[in-house]
Amino acid sequence: MTAATPKIRFPHRHLLGIEGLSPDEISELLDLSESHVEQNRQTDKKRTTLRGRTCINLFFENSTRTRTSFELAGKRLGADVINMSVSTSSIKKGETLIDTAMTLNAMHPDVLVVRHPDSGAVQLLSEKVNCAVINGGDGRHEHPTQALLDALTIRRRKGKLSGLCVAICGDIMHSRVARSNIRLLSIMGARVRVVAPPTLLPAEIGRFGVETFHHMKEGLKDCDIVMMLRLQLERMNGSFVPSVREYFRFYGLDYAKLKVAKPDALIMHPGPMNRGVEIDGELADDIDRSVIREQVEMGVAVRMACLETLTGALPQSGGKT
Ligand code: ASP
Repeated sequence: MTAATPKIRFPHRHLLGIEGLSPDEISELLDLSESHVEQNRQTDKKRTTLRGRTCINLFFENSTRTRTSFELAGKRLGADVINMSVSTSSIKKGETLIDTAMTLNAMHPDVLVVRHPDSGAVQLLSEKVNCAVINGGDGRHEHPTQALLDALTIRRRKGKLSGLCVAICGDIMHSRVARSNIRLLSIMGARVRVVAPPTLLPAEIGRFGVETFHHMKEGLKDCDIVMMLRLQLERMNGSFVPSVREYFRFYGLDYAKLKVAKPDALIMHPGPMNRGVEIDGELADDIDRSVIREQVEMGVAVRMACLETLTGALPQSGGKT
């Protein structure tokens, strides 16, 4: 497959969030990602656009999908990829975030992918290093590559983003996925709703430019996409829901609640999924409705596009580079 030729220059050194990206920049990243989807399904998945480059994945929080897909993305583009495990690094010995960043910076990486439990930590780190930094999720702030892979999944299935009605349901308050998706979908002209109990909505929700619902049957009515979120227990101080059973009864997605959405509405979830808490297990596996596996697949393509774009190592048109 012929690689896409980027039409615009990406003027950002880092990818710290969706905030600040233009509709053209988002479309450009999605187009480039699209060009990798087919190639990732072939036996020979290797490219050389990042040959000679070094990518370091520095994860201060657990991750399955994001870390693995950044690793695969870098390797498929020919880069050297290092995974820094916080549990075996000097961070355990008390080294600060900035000292760790400076140490890694001295080894001349081209890209640092960073996940951190504190909102703003990745931005702070990006100010201290010479290489490009990609935010792999910081606290409840942003998770830009998740929003991009969600957008790619939707665009491939629905052919567009603009004009679609997207309901994001569950723990909005603690979710960086919700914040990045609200930003991206709004920039691209989709209508965004959030559906959650009042205790799981951030106080500043009025400034997000979304419609707010407290009942699934109202929030899901006639929507094109239903995006479910996990209860982010690791970010909760105290109890935000009476019980998991009650939460599932009122906010867990099942076939009955889904009935009010459009008949071709798609179900999404960024993972990790808690079956029987925010989503019915059978529905999550229903290949006629759920695109959860496809989201994971798109994650690799999107991360390849982000690595190429930020390093300026963009493929030329006309074939395999
Ligand atoms: N994997 C996503 C994140 O890192 C969603 C989640 O953890 O629930 O934010």
